[in-house]
Amino acid sequence: MSAKIHDPVDHAGAAAKFITDEAHLTFHDTRLWEMRQKRDGQMHGVPEWQELRDLASAIKEHTLSRLPEYLEQFEAQAIAHGVQVHWARDAAEHNAIVLRLLRENNAKTLVKSKSMLTEECEMAPFLERHGITLTETDLGERIQQLDNESPSHIVVPSVHKLRADVARVFAKTIGGDPNNTDATYLAEHCRVTTRPLMLDADAGMTGANFLVAETGAVVVCTNEGNADLSANLPKLHIVSAGIEKLIPRQADLGVFVRILSRSALGSPITQYTSHFRGPRDGAQMHIILVDNGRSKRLGQAEFWTSLKCIRCGACMNTCPVYRRSGGLSYGAVYSGPIGAIINPAYDPARYAALPFASTLNGSCTAVCPVKINIHEQLYAWRRIIAEGGLLPAQKALAMRVAGAVLASPTLYRLATAAARMAVRRLPRALLYNRLNGWGRDRELPTPPKESFAAWHARRKKAG
Ligand code: SF4
Repeated sequence: MSAKIHDPVDHAGAAAKFITDEAHLTFHDTRLWEMRQKRDGQMHGVPEWQELRDLASAIKEHTLSRLPEYLEQFEAQAIAHGVQVHWARDAAEHNAIVLRLLRENNAKTLVKSKSMLTEECEMAPFLERHGITLTETDLGERIQQLDNESPSHIVVPSVHKLRADVARVFAKTIGGDPNNTDATYLAEHCRVTTRPLMLDADAGMTGANFLVAETGAVVVCTNEGNADLSANLPKLHIVSAGIEKLIPRQADLGVFVRILSRSALGSPITQYTSHFRGPRDGAQMHIILVDNGRSKRLGQAEFWTSLKCIRCGACMNTCPVYRRSGGLSYGAVYSGPIGAIINPAYDPARYAALPFASTLNGSCTAVCPVKINIHEQLYAWRRIIAEGGLLPAQKALAMRVAGAVLASPTLYRLATAAARMAVRRLPRALLYNRLNGWGRDRELPTPPKESFAAWHARRKKAG
């Protein structure tokens, strides 16, 4: 995320548009809920699930509390295996390193497997401006790239699209039958049109799910094998990794590999768990360790544990707001509950609406495999945003009035009596109009003539 000035994200407005399309809304909601249910099935098949979560959380907290030591250990191990290690303070430095490496190797074409960090750094448009042709090799990412859209989910980037949408995107960009919505046909069509680009690419890029300090290994988990092709076909392999991806030991991987795919897709393990430890003969391997705001977050008492995130997407799949508003409505690289914590750390004014895109039901926290207290961090962001004067004026006024009424028993009684009378007596057009956004899709129940407090007082008096 670069330091540009943007308009504040209007999550509610974008979500309102998303829900007008019943077919997409139903598909999105149903598909993600299926993933959540499959995750539950897997969880019940592992009796020690909660112990694994405790362990994963403890390993991550331990690593984050000693990050400099583990980073240096990782760097030394990687260098010992012939890898060149680079450090990037921010997105601009990351992108400049990638471009320099490509230029030094006279590389004009780059194939890339899925990496949210490169999205965060806005690397693709940067490289394209500098004459590099970048091809996404993950199926969902490729669909999004061809449609000129950002990923809407960190694990399944095009989950908001129906197969008919994919067929149309392919027909417009890489050819194919716009009316053939068969999943096998579409996947095969993407494969046969992308494979030659991979075979001819000058350079390949992957992200990293885990960096093992003890061995210097980069571990990448995928279901399509595209990361292995991106890393192994070209002579130049660049790995882009956030500094929070570290784990101390190879043995720790066993914990994370068991929880990652189960939490993400409800499958016991990803099809490929690839370990890259050094360049092949005659090839180069570079790792870029990227900070881009992570050190700052590590110093924030209320938010540092969000760095434990292993990007499984479970909090998104379970979130009723995410499922019914679509990932693109968050207007950010990271969407859903974890995105609503990460994005305001970069730009609180721009992303002020996101922590409010939650019912605070705590389901995100309950499913998180590394036990991040997501809903509590969302609540903390709400407080910071309100205290920072970043609430919309109408909402800020409403909250001030509500605060005053709720703080005074007399005002509260008067206000509830007035509201009871208004709902019973006022004409419907006055209650349900354009100004009443809440009442657009909801009906207020008819209130009783008498409040509970008045009823109770009357009964007491009567003995
Ligand atoms: S916050 Fe937890 S549940 Fe959400 S993506 Fe990260 S690890 Fe997964």
